[in-house]
Order: sequence, then structure tokens, then C-alpha cells
Amino acid sequence: MLRSFVNSLPYPIKQGAKYIYGAIPPQFGYSKVFWDTYNFLQESQWWSKEKLEEYQMQQLEKLLNHAYNNVPYYKKIFDETGLKPKDIQDFDDFKKIPYLTKEIIRDNLEDLIARNYPSSKLQYCTTGGSTGIPMGFYVEKNITSAKEWAFMLTQWNRVGFRMGDRCVVLRGDVVRSANKGKFWEYNPANKNLILSSYHMTDETLSGYIAKIRKFRPDFIQAYPSAITILAKFMRKNNIKPFSCLKALLCGSENLYPWQRELLEETFQCRVYSWYGHTEQVVLAGECEKNTYYHVFPEYGIAEIIGKDDKTVTQENELGEIVATGFNNFACPFIRYRTMDLAIPTNAKCECGRNYTLLKRVEGRLQELIVTKDKRLITLTALIFAQHFEAFSKIKEMQLVQEKEGQLIVKIVRTSQYSANDEKEILYKMQRAVSDGLDISFSYISHIPRTKSGKYKFLIQKLSIEFGDR
Ligand SMILES: [Zn+2]
Repeated sequence: MLRSFVNSLPYPIKQGAKYIYGAIPPQFGYSKVFWDTYNFLQESQWWSKEKLEEYQMQQLEKLLNHAYNNVPYYKKIFDETGLKPKDIQDFDDFKKIPYLTKEIIRDNLEDLIARNYPSSKLQYCTTGGSTGIPMGFYVEKNITSAKEWAFMLTQWNRVGFRMGDRCVVLRGDVVRSANKGKFWEYNPANKNLILSSYHMTDETLSGYIAKIRKFRPDFIQAYPSAITILAKFMRKNNIKPFSCLKALLCGSENLYPWQRELLEETFQCRVYSWYGHTEQVVLAGECEKNTYYHVFPEYGIAEIIGKDDKTVTQENELGEIVATGFNNFACPFIRYRTMDLAIPTNAKCECGRNYTLLKRVEGRLQELIVTKDKRLITLTALIFAQHFEAFSKIKEMQLVQEKEGQLIVKIVRTSQYSANDEKEILYKMQRAVSDGLDISFSYISHIPRTKSGKYKFLIQKLSIEFGDR
């Protein structure tokens, strides 16, 4: 069986080669689920809107029947609302099912597990506390992740990624030899050169660059914050880009417009980003032609719900992503409120895919700032829609909100930074919020990372609500 999968690969692969899968975890090279999903996506991505919707309704019917018959929480919810799965005949009917929240999952986890899945088929996952609500749940062991990687490979294909490509990885991994002064390790199983994100200083970065140049990567997979540090160092020291590089693959953190600009200029290649979750209910990535996020309809149903509880239809309107995943029947998430905000667009992409497009994912609700008069301000409005001269003289920056109407700006300065730069930042930020914030500055030597090594631009200590639901 395996041989026929390998033969059906769209890429030439040496038979019997052990390390053919590159950044894709090698075990999935042997997974029928992985290849079935991947091959399916090669066709379905070009389907018409009608055909995709028909497919979604079929998957939804399967999921709802399963949830009603096997998942105690959904049996209860259907009974309480007087619904049966057969009552859901279209996307409007679907809206009758109440939302699933992080709190509900936290308080009802046992009842969310499908009774026809033995514990041997469950894999436990947790999400970090970036939303303020840490949460545990289950996915289908070996199945959900195999499908996930098939979707990942499909979207990375759009910028030329192929199985077996060489990748530098700069994503918060701990490199064990780093305390002995070796800041990287090579994993031949997936052709990844893993670099430490925790030791990038003016003293060590020349060593990183020499190592990358010698490795000749096809791609760099990175947290935007980590690759930004490398890019700034390269700019400052006039270091030329890596000629073999096809694209930067940037996930897991928001990629801000100024970062994309800096990275594309420094590395002279495409920056590709996508939006996904540990919960694996929604996945959306850029395409060959465009930086809008293309939401995979084969992955689940993503609704964008406005403050008024209605689906967002206006251009440039902000809504919360509410998602239903098709790839996890062990612990189904149906109409799950992700607490992430997005701006959809009705534009059609020239790539030809009939997918829902998101202009921007504004990030987590916890990435909004509250003014004195209780307005919610996005980071885009406060910072990214403006140009700050001062930013070129800053190594790193972090915002902290502890009280409504107050903001602390923490800055790691370079030697060129002066009092005028503080004035500029203060003036432009206050202008953006019509003086709705008291802003103070704090100068520090280093910005700490989260447990998983991620950088957070805003530490929001208030609990933010969107709409009245
Ligand atoms: Zn497109």
C-alpha cells in the first residue's frame, strides 16, 4: 500500500529514502489519512462555490448526527433547544445551535468526548493562556494531526514548498547544546536546522548567519518576532540575503504589516503567513497571488459574527471567528467561539479558489486596548496604520495594559534612541485614540517570552468582551 502512495506523489522522490518528507513529520509519510486528505485537496481547492457548500453540508450532517448520537453534551444541547440533526438543512438552520465557548469546554470536557471513541484513540491537547482561559481538550489520535499536515502541505505548496525541502526553524524550540555555545541542531529526519530563539544577540547572530548560509535552506519557518530580530541585525550590518531561500513561512503569531515589509526587503523573498489554532477548527492561509487569508472550506465551517450576533456581510466590518471543525470527531467543536477577530472581504482572488477571504485577522480579543471611555482599539489603529520614525531606533517593544484607559509602553532601546523618539511615539499614539489613554514609558533590557517561546506584543490584563453574548 505504502509504495502506491509514494508512487502517487506529485514529486519525484527517491524510493527507499528514509528522509524524504522534509518539514512534514516523517510518520505522516506513511499515513493513508494524510495522503487521502492531501490528494483530495488537490482537486477540491478548485471546486465551485456551490460544490464546496454542498460538501460542507454533507460533512456537517455527518458531524451533527455523530454528535447527537455519541456526544452527551450535544445530545443535551439539541434536546434543550428542541432540535434534531435533521432540522439543520442549511447554513441558516445551523445558526440555531448555541455557541460553544472556552468556558463550556473547560467545565464540560468529559461530556464533550464521543462515547464511541475509546481512550486509546484520544490525544490530549492544551492551549496556552493567551486568551486568559487556558483549556484542555481531545483530538483523534494520529488522525486529526495527519489531516492537519495535509492541509499545511497544501497551503505551503502555494509558495513552492515541496516534500523534502530544507528548512531553518526559528520557532521557540529549546536547543540543548545552546548553553555550550552551539545555538543550533540538525534533525536529519525532517531536514530541519533548528536555531535557538533565546540566544539571539549582537554577539551571536553572525554565527547564526554563517550557519544558515552553509546549510542552504529552501525555506525558513519562523515566529515573526524571532525572524524580525535576525532581519534587523542583517539590515544594520548590511548582510546580504540567502540566495537559495524561496519563502519565509511565518505562523503562530500575528504578522504585522511593518514586519512583512522589513522581512521581504531583507530576505528578498516572499513572506507567507497563515492563521490556525491548536483547536484545529479553522485554517486559513495566503495564496500564490495574494496576502488575504483563504479560509479552507474543507477544514470546517468558519462564520464571522458581528457584535450584533449576525453574520458580517459589510466590507471592512470586524467580527469574531466562530468555527466548526470537520477533522475531530473525538471531541467535536461545533460553533466554537475562537475569541479571534477578523475582517472578511467579498473580493474574489485571481488564484481562482472559491474560498472565503479574510483581509486581516486582527488577532485575539485579548489584543485590543480599552480607552478611558471604554472604546476598544485595535493594535492596527494604535500602531500599525501609522508610521513611527522612532521604531527604527528600537530593538523591541511591548505594550502592557493593567487598567482601563492606561497603557505602559516597554521599550528595549538602541543607542540612537532619544527623548524626541519618546515624544513622537506618545504624540502619535494619543492622536490615534483621541487622548483616550494615559501612556507611560518604561525602558528595559529584554522582553521576556511566553512559556512556548512566543513574543507577545500586548500583555492585556483586562478581560475583554466582544458583543453582549
Ligand atoms: Zn488566492
